Amino acid sequence: MRSGTVFTQGLRQAVGESPAWTVEAVRQVRYHVVSSVGLFTPDNPALLTGCPDAPLRPGDRRLIIVDQNVDALHGDAMRAYFAAHGVDVTVVPLHAEETVKQWDAVEAVVDAMNSFGIDRRREPVLAVGGGVLTDVVGFAASLYRRGTPYIRIPTTLIGLVDAGVGVKTGVNYQLGKNRLGTYAPATATFLDRSLLSTLPLRHIGNGLAEILKMALIRSNDLFRLLESHGAAVRADRMQGSTGELARAADAIIAESIHLMLEELQPNLWESALERCVDYGHTFSPTLEMHALPELLHGEAVVIDMALTTALGTLRGDLTEAEADRVYAVIRSLGLPLWTDVLERPGLLEDALRDTVRHRDGQQRLPLPVGIGRHRFVNDVTPAELRAAAGLLRGRALGAAAPAAPALVAGQVGV
Ligand code: NAD
Repeated sequence: MRSGTVFTQGLRQAVGESPAWTVEAVRQVRYHVVSSVGLFTPDNPALLTGCPDAPLRPGDRRLIIVDQNVDALHGDAMRAYFAAHGVDVTVVPLHAEETVKQWDAVEAVVDAMNSFGIDRRREPVLAVGGGVLTDVVGFAASLYRRGTPYIRIPTTLIGLVDAGVGVKTGVNYQLGKNRLGTYAPATATFLDRSLLSTLPLRHIGNGLAEILKMALIRSNDLFRLLESHGAAVRADRMQGSTGELARAADAIIAESIHLMLEELQPNLWESALERCVDYGHTFSPTLEMHALPELLHGEAVVIDMALTTALGTLRGDLTEAEADRVYAVIRSLGLPLWTDVLERPGLLEDALRDTVRHRDGQQRLPLPVGIGRHRFVNDVTPAELRAAAGLLRGRALGAAAPAAPALVAGQVGV
């Protein structure tokens, strides 16, 4: 018998006593993020022609899975839009919030796809809602017949700037945040900040937390925009009520998405584990799940960032004055600096251990350097974490009265 390697049409075969083959393939990924204010205004063509890979024509059918709260607020306009354009829609409202971001919700979406009898090549499922809804629908679509296309219309700020623009889907499992999930890009995401008009202010702040994350690690300019206009665009729910507020809201959203996509595109499948977009996501998954439902996702992320800002000052990577600016912006956005959950014995160490398991045995912890830059470290110790938590506690409790027994904030829960 011969031995060696043969190639036939790119397939590599080791030839010997026991045959073995190595298959190598590259899958190209292309998806679109299209923004347009007033998506459900009848004369807005964005949903029909805005995405070259997912045109919508009269006579087409679509299954729409919509967050039930969004359905109550925007469902009539959405149905009227599709009716006006001759698109036959089946709308399935889903209860979608963090506590029900579980496998049961995935089954509900699969049931809806089965009942609809979806044509998996030509009938992308539409997911209309916040990050929970789009994560659940994306996960179900990625599993259904091993992959069915879907389209996202995020309706929260976190959805617009974060959950709606990347490729991750998933649900929680027991205390594991997003423990089950897939990498499955939507064919397109349509962004419409006017849908945020009905979003509670606390959830606007929640999205601003993820925008602040991008500013702290990547962009001093974006940070300055948040310093100068963050509180005002939050109060305005990003609606652009004046020319200045519209320009600020558009710039803040667009810059944040641009920075995020710049980070994601070269590393879509997270083969590189040093990801600066993981800033704020080292301790927050554990914090969020232990504090559920007290802390929203972005609130847990911002507390993680406040903690690591304290860590940065202890290491001399940020000045006290820079840290004070960071804490002032956090407060101005109505976000918390502190939760007593941070002081649960062993919680921060457990969180770090879980993150190390997630990051292939190393901490790979992004830490801020000044404002707008970062570095990765692997040597954070439990004692250092306790010192940082102590420092943050002093800043948080010294500067603001507790808004709730376990949560200290500028104006949380407005
Ligand atoms: P969410 O989906 O729970 O929505 C928040 C609340 O707002 C819900 O009660 C919802 O019903 C309601 N709502 C949604 N849109 C509304 C609107 N326009 N008007 C009024 N109410 C509205 O929360 P979220 O903050 O959008 O998303 C958080 C989730 O996103 C987390 O589970 C997180 O893990 C996930 N996430 C995923 C990614 C990713 O890359 N896939 C990135 C960031 C966050």
